[in-house]
Amino acid sequence: MGTVAEDRHGQVREEIADCLKIPLDKVKPDSVLTDDLEAMSIDFMDILFRLETRHVVCFQPGNPLDQIGEAMEPDALCRKGLLTELGVEVVRQRMPEIDGSRVVREMPIGKVRTLYTTRTWVRAVKELLDAQPTSYPFCDDSNLEPLRPSVLQCQACEREVHTPTQRELLTAWATDKFGSASNHSENSS
Ligand SMILES: [Zn+2]
Repeated sequence: MGTVAEDRHGQVREEIADCLKIPLDKVKPDSVLTDDLEAMSIDFMDILFRLETRHVVCFQPGNPLDQIGEAMEPDALCRKGLLTELGVEVVRQRMPEIDGSRVVREMPIGKVRTLYTTRTWVRAVKELLDAQPTSYPFCDDSNLEPLRPSVLQCQACEREVHTPTQRELLTAWATDKFGSASNHSENSS
């Protein structure tokens, strides 16, 4: 039937529809959860939990942008909770699926979530699953299955393999794209 990507999209739409108790066909790929589907804060937590359970992945608690900000120079992403010019750029690059024209300087960082669409969750799940190893280098029979969040288990020898957490992925992304504070000082010296 569908491709893996289509399935994943369908699964995310199902969880959103179930959580919000609305018909599946109301959940479009570009639906904005707050504006179009009237999702509340508690719904976001529920959707996260459902996706974690379904896919055996673990999302970073809190705002992923805070994690990215920690990998950058202090106050580079936001100042007193408000997005800087660079912060706007980070959000637009990090979340290409949201309406970038609505991401503006001095926007409260917590408000970015109100722009999340169905595709935001699809991307977040995909990033975690794509980061998982597909084979285990120490075992010929490796058939890896999720054991618990961020841990896969080889079905042949029962050894466990760590997979990157969302925290690690966010930090790696931010360091790669925007450099950490230590990188900056190394470059300038
Ligand atoms: Zn093995």
